[in-house]
Amino acid sequence: MSEDYGKLLDRALKQIPKAVFESSRFQIPEAEVSIIGNRTILRNFRGIASALNREPEHLIKYLLRELGAAGNLEGTQAVFQGKFSNTIVDNRVRRYAEEFVLCQECGKPDTRLERRERVYVLRCEACGARSSVRSV
Ligand SMILES: [Zn+2]
Repeated sequence: MSEDYGKLLDRALKQIPKAVFESSRFQIPEAEVSIIGNRTILRNFRGIASALNREPEHLIKYLLRELGAAGNLEGTQAVFQGKFSNTIVDNRVRRYAEEFVLCQECGKPDTRLERRERVYVLRCEACGARSSVRSV
């Protein structure tokens, strides 16, 4: 690589908005699911909740409702009554992220979920947008 090209590349990289790097940081871990008898264990539940930067209690409430299942937290895992494939669980987790994590305006994950009385507001720290989200 010539020195000129190096400099050019350097300059080009500096021109890419910081946000491009920030949003590429956001990755939802794939669900690690074990079906044992009639129960489904989501083994990396805590890891998913922390990657999404959301309260485990909020996430599990959503998943239970969306799966139409009973269940609970057991340490770092979530246990659902019934059999659910990792595709199904992944799909619900992704929908959760779309609704409760990603900013409705700019699509970035740098948001906070704030409780106002009985409603939740998703506040974006990147663009400042606020949107109300349904309660779970
Ligand atoms: Zn935003």
